Amino acid sequence: MRTYDCDVVVVGGGSTGAGVVRDVAMRGYSTILVDRADLGQGTTGRYHGLLHSGGRYVVSDPHSATECAEENTIVTRIHADAVETTGGLFVSVPEDDLAFSDDFLAGCQKTGVRVTEISVADALKREPRVNPKIQRAFLVEDGTVDGWQMVWGAARSAQEHGAKILTYTAVVGIEKQGDAVTAVRCIDRRSGEDVTISCRFVINAAGAWSHHIAELAGCHDVEVVPGRGIMIAMNHRLVNTVINRCTYPADGDILVPVHTVAIIGTTDVRADDPDELPIPHNEVQQMLDCGEVLIPGFRQARALHAWSGARPLVKDARVSAQDTRHMSRGMSILDHQARDGVSGILTIAGGKLTTYRLMAKNIVDRMCEQLGEERDCRTADEAVPNSTPGKNYVVTHRLHDREADRRDDQIICECELMSRSMLVKAMHADPMASMDDLRRHLRLGMGPCQGGFCSLRATGIGCAEGIFDADTGNARLKEFLSHRWIGLWPILYGDQVRETALDEWIFQGLLDIDHLPEEKVVFEPVPLNAGAQAAQADAKPETTEVSR
Ligand SMILES: Cc1cc2nc3c(=O)[nH]c(=O)nc-3n(C[C@H](O)[C@H](O)[C@H](O)COP(=O)(O)OP(=O)(O)OC[C@H]3O[C@@H](n4cnc5c(N)ncnc54)[C@H](O)[C@@H]3O)c2cc1C
Repeated sequence: MRTYDCDVVVVGGGSTGAGVVRDVAMRGYSTILVDRADLGQGTTGRYHGLLHSGGRYVVSDPHSATECAEENTIVTRIHADAVETTGGLFVSVPEDDLAFSDDFLAGCQKTGVRVTEISVADALKREPRVNPKIQRAFLVEDGTVDGWQMVWGAARSAQEHGAKILTYTAVVGIEKQGDAVTAVRCIDRRSGEDVTISCRFVINAAGAWSHHIAELAGCHDVEVVPGRGIMIAMNHRLVNTVINRCTYPADGDILVPVHTVAIIGTTDVRADDPDELPIPHNEVQQMLDCGEVLIPGFRQARALHAWSGARPLVKDARVSAQDTRHMSRGMSILDHQARDGVSGILTIAGGKLTTYRLMAKNIVDRMCEQLGEERDCRTADEAVPNSTPGKNYVVTHRLHDREADRRDDQIICECELMSRSMLVKAMHADPMASMDDLRRHLRLGMGPCQGGFCSLRATGIGCAEGIFDADTGNARLKEFLSHRWIGLWPILYGDQVRETALDEWIFQGLLDIDHLPEEKVVFEPVPLNAGAQAAQADAKPETTEVSR
């Protein structure tokens, strides 16, 4: 058994938890973040990629609109390496009510969302693929943000301020003395080892799973509703600006250019379990139709990958429990001392990735208040490591880097221009990393071939470098391919079928992958929802991994 001692344990390594651990560490507390999987493996790794300007909410939720507008500026500055300043257009297509565009403009002015109306001709000059029948166009400061890059940026900053980050460490219990929280019990899912962390305070940022964590501390009936949404990546940047429909927020009304692809989304349906998120055929068709409204001919582009994520929405008394589309996107802090009589724990849920820093600031302010200490938030003042304010990400950056080293550094993934040295460095940094972990760090397997070529090269390199033996490599490769498949089968049509047939021949025909010797267990299969189990005493096997 391993033990640690710190002031604050942060549960959950999505954008919210990463923001919290950074803030806590920067205020001088000793702190440990635990996540049951990799950082950004939950909703933060399965979202749409939009750094909101606030435009989407100026009519439906003006308070959120102002928060987004303010945080957009800060996040663009402190996470320059993760944010591309693409700009955004709100366009009225013929199906849209033009009266809304007047409300939109008035809303932007009231909420401080920076906007300029431009002529339809200028909008089409900027984005020639957009529906030529649009009637009005507004330019806003939407951007795109790589959630993994952002989360790791915040985590590294926290580490520089003394924080410890424990991934693949699932919380399975919370200890109390009287009504005060004193320790968090976890399991290291890779080694099976028990881990106990004594602490003064716990901040629960477990997103759509936060009710399980609250339950472990004896705080019942926390209602976090998973609002499931699907997204589809098309195989190239159909646009270079975020394109939004100028309407009240609805399904399939935003197209976001992220890295080398364009992502259409999304839907909003209540899910029963955030670990079981289907990608229904009718929603796939709905998204492709919605894409067609924004970009005529959309369906002819190749759909590359589909995935599903769960918004951690806090149940909103104003709407029905099924109606996640109309539940508030605002952040909620649950004060368990006032609510349940349990001190030393707070829960935060809701909000958006765009407002992650503000969410962290608000909950850490509340924690300081409860501890009776005054320590100021400094997260807006300092950029995260490897990020230079003003030098934002541009899609061509890897091409630029490869031009410099292409003669002496082999390219392993042509789609995402990932070099051998990048891969080897990441593998040595974390020899236990699964191929999915490497994908989140390096974009391995995220391009048009979806891992068809690079995944087997990466496996071979891992063996050659002595990172793992052949049996382990085979198991990691098979696990990776099975996860990729979850997001491939719902969009199998047109060119994607041809690509999949080619991949099938490589893996089945050439490698006979189903019969390769493999080491069965990659890491300890400790159930993911330990909190739910403790609450229900109802053993359930590890649930399906949701791929992105
Ligand atoms: C379809 C969709 C599209 C979206 N698009 C956008 C967008 O374009 N722009 C935007 O700003 N926002 C967007 N959002 C919202 C945004 O993605 C979320 O608000 C945000 O990512 C939530 O982050 P989180 O850290 O709260 O949750 P998560 O990222 O889910 O993090 C929670 C973490 O808790 C961990 N955890 C769970 N149980 C345990 C346990 N027992 N022990 C340890 N760890 C545990 C999980 O592994 C997970 O990593 C979108 C959301 C969805 C679903």
